Amino acid sequence: MKKFELLQNQKNKYLEDLFDFLRIPSITRDAEEVKKAAKWLEKRLTQTANYVEIVETKGNPVVIAEWEPQINSDSEQKKPILLYYGHYDVQPPEPLDEWVSPPFEPEIREGRIYARGVGDNKGQLFANLCGIEWLHKNKQLGSKVKFIFDGEEELGSPYLEDALKAKIEFFENVDLVIVSDGPADPTWKPVLEFGARGIQTVQIHLKSAKGDVHSGNFGGIQPNPVWDVIRLLRTMRDENGKCLIEGFYDDVFIPTEAAIKAAEELNRDPEIYKEQLGITYFGGEQDLPLTHRLMFRPTFNIRGFKSGEVQENAKTMIPKEAIVEIDVRLVPNQTPEKMTKLIQAHFEKLRHKSERFAAIIDRCTLKFGSSFYPMFTSLELPWTQILEKAIEEGFEEKPIKIPLAGGSLPLYSLYKVTGKPLYVIPYAQPDEDNHAPNENMMVDWFLKGINTSIAILENLGKK
Ligand SMILES: [Zn+2]
Repeated sequence: MKKFELLQNQKNKYLEDLFDFLRIPSITRDAEEVKKAAKWLEKRLTQTANYVEIVETKGNPVVIAEWEPQINSDSEQKKPILLYYGHYDVQPPEPLDEWVSPPFEPEIREGRIYARGVGDNKGQLFANLCGIEWLHKNKQLGSKVKFIFDGEEELGSPYLEDALKAKIEFFENVDLVIVSDGPADPTWKPVLEFGARGIQTVQIHLKSAKGDVHSGNFGGIQPNPVWDVIRLLRTMRDENGKCLIEGFYDDVFIPTEAAIKAAEELNRDPEIYKEQLGITYFGGEQDLPLTHRLMFRPTFNIRGFKSGEVQENAKTMIPKEAIVEIDVRLVPNQTPEKMTKLIQAHFEKLRHKSERFAAIIDRCTLKFGSSFYPMFTSLELPWTQILEKAIEEGFEEKPIKIPLAGGSLPLYSLYKVTGKPLYVIPYAQPDEDNHAPNENMMVDWFLKGINTSIAILENLGKK
């Protein structure tokens, strides 16, 4: 393919520019450096874009840019408008002594670029930007493109929604949104993702007595909070992995045929999971296939339990309290607000079950913590085929389609404000070590990212 050969010729220039960007230590909590990175982007963008603005927020700025099409202007049919999202803030690099080369002095070793933020997310957003620039330079940009550069993703993008709302007219006519972030699939195949599960965390704190007491002197009188919390937990989930909270599954979406087919095509081998996780049996809803449990179903997970002392600190005592931390993974149509209400209602109902339950619940506090909404783009939309084809061109390999990623993304505001289908196409290889020392991105994957971006824009321009 001729254009990709041309791209190879420019490879060194692209890498040099990326290195400049990586040298700015835009650690998310370092407002000054993040601002420098925003300025760097602004300078770069004004060379090609028709519109660039640094949007100030209560936190780090958001940079937006827009490119007008250079061809198709006389075409009667309106070409689709693509919005790219990326974030230019990075995680702190510590522990520094574990880095082979300094985190903000990018270096290539064995085909990989090592630098903090290269995979997460500067290298990935830069690949998309290079794609736009390449087409622009060759006067081949066939449809309008917009880009949004978030400066606070690593803090959960607390002001992104404000910034989006302040610039609502900028996002109004967008047709689809693409995010290149996160590592690709562990199989090393390129990926097209259609969404992610959401989350709601909850803490149950039962403080049943004033203090820890001697289990001989007061055994039989002071209630044991561990037994009581277990009683509570047993009302919330059965042995087959079903959550017993009334209404828990009411809003769970029914995956479409295309979503189920894509999940089946992933062809995940249960034995590989067993080996990878060092397990001999599976948790979760026993009556459902593994892929469904991994992406289409909510989970009610105990992520921590603390009471008393264990091992060398074990004592003959009755602990005064027990704390349980729970995370509920949400799937499309479920919301954190509704989940919070269902859990509260469950506790209220228990109060009426027996005097004993009422007494336990009186001493319990429920605390609801962080949450994200689930996101899901239908696989049946026409963009699926266009993107699949573009990734295949860019990576020279067919991508796998992941209907719902297991983890959660702070992209809900992007999804909510634009109201448009959102896709995740990661360009970092699976072992990018994001958030860890020696974060890296393979040069080859970076170039494939540029190729993919070019192919996406070309295919959208043809539509
Ligand atoms: Zn990150």
